[in-house]
Amino acid sequence: SSFVHQLADEHLSDAELLADPAEKIAKVGGTRHPSIPLPIDLFGADRRNSTGIDLQDPPLLEEVVKTVSKLPFTPGKAVAPDVGAAVERAQAAFPAWAATPVDERAACLERLADLLEAQRGELMAIAVQEAKKTIPDALGEVREAVDFCRYYAARARDGLMPIELPGPTGERNVLRMEGKGVWATIAPWNFPLAIFLGQTVAALVAGNTVIAKPAPQTPAIAGWAVGLAQEAGIPDDALILLPGGPEVGAAIVADPRVAGIAFTGSTATAKKIARSLLDDDARPLVPLIAETGGINAMIVDSTALPEQVVQDVVTSAFRSAGQRCSALRVLLLQEEIAERTLEMLSGAMDSLIVGDPADPRTDVGPVIDGSAFTRLMDYRQTMRAHWVKTVDAPTEGFFVPPTVIRLNDLSELNQEWFGPLLHVATWKAGELEETVARVNAKGFGLTMGLHSRIARAAETVEALSRVGNLYVNRSMIGAIVGSQPFGGEGLSGTGPKAGGPHYLHRFTAERVTSTDT
Ligand code: GLU
Repeated sequence: SSFVHQLADEHLSDAELLADPAEKIAKVGGTRHPSIPLPIDLFGADRRNSTGIDLQDPPLLEEVVKTVSKLPFTPGKAVAPDVGAAVERAQAAFPAWAATPVDERAACLERLADLLEAQRGELMAIAVQEAKKTIPDALGEVREAVDFCRYYAARARDGLMPIELPGPTGERNVLRMEGKGVWATIAPWNFPLAIFLGQTVAALVAGNTVIAKPAPQTPAIAGWAVGLAQEAGIPDDALILLPGGPEVGAAIVADPRVAGIAFTGSTATAKKIARSLLDDDARPLVPLIAETGGINAMIVDSTALPEQVVQDVVTSAFRSAGQRCSALRVLLLQEEIAERTLEMLSGAMDSLIVGDPADPRTDVGPVIDGSAFTRLMDYRQTMRAHWVKTVDAPTEGFFVPPTVIRLNDLSELNQEWFGPLLHVATWKAGELEETVARVNAKGFGLTMGLHSRIARAAETVEALSRVGNLYVNRSMIGAIVGSQPFGGEGLSGTGPKAGGPHYLHRFTAERVTSTDT
């Protein structure tokens, strides 16, 4: 069986899980969210969303969307004035939500986690339909969202309570961590539930109200999640869903009443946001938490276990069609083992199943949309002379065949290709330090992998690499909330790390009161 099945089996304690969502996918059109039966045509008559992206299987998607929308206005027409109205409502809701005890806010997140679990099948169905996730990836998506809710609830209960500090001069000193106001959370399509909710519930539990903008490609799962958040007790105006394209995002960011931004997406957009926050001299200094991409490398030396390398490379580069910011982009093989490793990799790739994400056997689904498809396929074509391996993929639909591309030198790769395209280059024995330095020089710092059985090599890479997440002798994707806090440095992001113990504090205002006793 292929690699995803193995992964799925590891994660699935119950074989029924795979069958259950497959059935749900078949009948999700008939499923109704219990509490929110509002018929809103999210995509307008021509079945396009606000950025004009064509939606596949519109009738099914439309059914899903109709069950979940409780939006403050007609989406797709969400332009600056609507953004202003939404911010005003979130601002009005702020004092009451900020005054809600941390324990109660945390309890809302825990109830939300329960609801997400209870509706796992429906959520997976939407993830498969809308984001074209494979079924194992859709399951991972829901689980991560649940984990974020539970983890941030626990961190809030224990980390956001007021702290009594020493008073050596006889004063009483108390540090409080409180909400700052209205946060904007801007989410990517590649984790349209987990990251959408992770950022959002972090801001909420820290005492902020939130304007949440999903990616234009994936509004339905966000709409469903917001419905559940309301059912879990988060007041309507404390969390306002504002779907739309880049113009909506720009209008949210530019609103001077927005007190903080959490963004996951491209480095270019993160920089645009950072610039926009400085435009207005009168505006307060606004924190930006940005989580962006990477040119992630895996370094393999001659002591590595070849079978394990191949399995971890296939998982890291091709699972999720390479559409994870953690994904492996460039494999750096020590010269002596390069040809043999590539041969084995080619063999392993022959058993990859590229196809319909709703089919439980599929390893690699399509990429997210036509523009991603064209960008990746054009690049792949220009590199044709350098292909080491490619595999069969359906020609109907946005399927990018997993492909390995040889580079003469790492300097030939200067951008992140967000899809199932893996680059490979070699390095010379004795040049481990230089190889790490060359990767660092790209300026990104998200994930790095090392396969080696020499303890010293791991120490060297740990000491010299400048990445947020280093993976030794394993795959480079699938960071676990609470155990592998995720996020990078340099061009890859600002920190703090999502799913880590320091994340929530960045969403708060820290205030100290010192009282003479
Ligand atoms: N946390 C995910 C992982 O470890 C990646 C998140 C992203 O792609 O934005 O694979």
